[in-house]
Amino acid sequence: MAPMATSTTSISSSPRALPRIAVLATGGTIAGSAADSAQTAGYQAGVVGVDKLLAAVPGLANVAHIEAEQVASIDSKDMPLALWATLAGRVDALLASGDVDGVVITHGTDTLEETAYLLHLTVKSAKPVVLTAAMRPSSALSADGPLNLLGAVTVAASPAARGQGVLVAFNNRIHSARDIVKTSTYAVDAFQSPEIGALGWVQDGRVEFQRGVVRPHTSGTPFSVGSVAVEWPVVDIVASYAGASRVMVDALVAAGVRGIVVAGTGNGSIHATLQSALAEAVKKGIAVVRSSRVGSGHVMRNGAAPDDALGFVSAGTLNPYKARVLLMLALASGKSAAAELQPIFDQY
Ligand code: ASP
Repeated sequence: MAPMATSTTSISSSPRALPRIAVLATGGTIAGSAADSAQTAGYQAGVVGVDKLLAAVPGLANVAHIEAEQVASIDSKDMPLALWATLAGRVDALLASGDVDGVVITHGTDTLEETAYLLHLTVKSAKPVVLTAAMRPSSALSADGPLNLLGAVTVAASPAARGQGVLVAFNNRIHSARDIVKTSTYAVDAFQSPEIGALGWVQDGRVEFQRGVVRPHTSGTPFSVGSVAVEWPVVDIVASYAGASRVMVDALVAAGVRGIVVAGTGNGSIHATLQSALAEAVKKGIAVVRSSRVGSGHVMRNGAAPDDALGFVSAGTLNPYKARVLLMLALASGKSAAAELQPIFDQY
């Protein structure tokens, strides 16, 4: 579904100078609704407007002055690249305007980690940008959206969140956009930052960071969505598994993709049949990035495959979906050789 025209809502109950937070709503389960309040799996995502989401959070107006915009109303599984461009442009414009102190984005959980990482690499501001979501639709018993939204606004309003890159506030925890991964199909505690854990927590109005973000982000990267919004380099993902064939790689090469991310087994190992097809793709000028389907840990360069010899790039700790985001941005910035791409994967 295409991004829709934005509408704005304003909430503030107090004359004292509260932080000004823009809430950009995109849909997702947090804006989902089911006919039955016991229903937490069969529902329609992205049907409840941002006004209602805000109205379900008593006390929000005491935390921040809110300006809300309905940027889209989609199920995030259907995230179009055009909406990434709209969102990134809107976040940058709001933060640069001087009218807001931080941005909160309500999003579906399915592709949240991809949007969050894209913004982490491309937003050009030190002001807080915080994504949140929900696992239960707004109509559900014990819906998790309202508390998650309060947590996200509380984090975005906190000076401690400045300069930390894009953050995700979910189920009381604060994660870095780079590290967060959806790890449960149903549980309310659906996100983790594998191996390294959350950055901190938010509860009852308190925001506490336990550690900072080490890798460069936002203004510390050369990437921007403005430069790729017209035409995103096509990058697809293939997986390695028992009995894997070269059919998908051959089809992607024939379709003219610019890059392929392989979700390898273990430490990024690749079935021999698939690996030779990927090595041939490199010779045709296609960037190949080796990641892992395991879900945590890193892929070591020249470990489970001879990257130097075959012209592959190692994704390090990025999962296949995040590696695809970084590869698209890197290709759009004009880098396509493995020797240029590997330092980018090592750095960001
Ligand atoms: N399919 C939904 C979405 O990503 C799932 C969710 O939000 O939890 O929009």
